[in-house]
Amino acid sequence: MQTPFSLSPVEVSVVVPVYNEEDGLQALFDRLYPAMDAMGESYELIFINDGSHDRSPQILAAQFHKRPDVTRVVLFNGNFGQHMAILAGFEHTRGRIVITLDADLQNPPEEIPRLVAAMRQGHDYVGTIRRQRNDTAFRRYASRAMNQLRERITKIKMTDQGCMLRAYDRNIIDTINACREVNTFIPALAYTFSSNPVEIEVGHEQRFAGESKYSLYQLIRLNFDLVTGFSIVPLQWFSAIGTLLSISSAGLFVVLLIRRFLLGSEVQGVFTLFALNFFLVGIMLFGIGLLGEYVGRIYQEVRDRPRYRIQAVLERDPLKTPEDHNAVEESCAR
Ligand code: UDP
Ligand code: MG
Repeated sequence: MQTPFSLSPVEVSVVVPVYNEEDGLQALFDRLYPAMDAMGESYELIFINDGSHDRSPQILAAQFHKRPDVTRVVLFNGNFGQHMAILAGFEHTRGRIVITLDADLQNPPEEIPRLVAAMRQGHDYVGTIRRQRNDTAFRRYASRAMNQLRERITKIKMTDQGCMLRAYDRNIIDTINACREVNTFIPALAYTFSSNPVEIEVGHEQRFAGESKYSLYQLIRLNFDLVTGFSIVPLQWFSAIGTLLSISSAGLFVVLLIRRFLLGSEVQGVFTLFALNFFLVGIMLFGIGLLGEYVGRIYQEVRDRPRYRIQAVLERDPLKTPEDHNAVEESCAR
């Protein structure tokens, strides 16, 4: 697929989603640019402002002016989520290798050359495993449990699904750009298109500033995307559970019938019956909810609305004058 830019391709593109990261952006620039310059490869950095309410867009615009040679800034006019921001970033990349990186410095930018080296060994997907994960114990535990569930129900093999510092080959990015999914989980989507994936260990640090942008609810939603977006195994399991329950209740009926003839009418066990009933109603509601997850996804897909809206793109364009850029930035500052 053709990238939207007619400019010559670069070796490495780095895509960074940004949402309310004003306190950490300067520290990110101070480490990311020197790390990329030291690599001695042609590169570009694409920052996507995901509708931040703080000064992040202004800081990004100022950085664009400092390094217009390698910087591109995509400004959303709303908060569409980290994965949509990365997708928009992908559409603006030209690199042969595309790397995703979080803006909060949890992923050390100094690891990028190691990812590039792994790609050069012939891999088309470099996943990462956080050597020592610096997140809360609850996040670590929940993430491990989700990892195990995902391993069972999808064909996706990722030791550490949550780490976003990853590298993808141009072909994978072009394929992702051709997908129109509304809710997705990029590392998993990319994995399904890769033919020679590998995983390497990388460092993981505490968030430099601010707090995680994910609430517990959003994390649960993200995991639903991972499960229902990549497999229908949960539905199949559910029909299997339904079948098993029907068979066992038929068995129970036969047992009760025999007891009726042998022992006469029995009325004990009303509470057991209640418990059983609640349990079965619970399973049924879970099943309806699960079905709803898939139906909801279908609904979102068929609506086919734009997945995000871009307010402006700051990039060095030979056809645009500096005044044009200033006009765009004034409109974002408003
Ligand atoms: N992010 C985003 N949009 C959102 C939430 C997060 O672009 O709606 C960005 C955020 O600025 C950061 C990255 O996604 O660069 C990862 O977010 P965060 O560090 O809060 O997630 P965590 O590390 O806690 O999983
Ligand atoms: Mg983080």
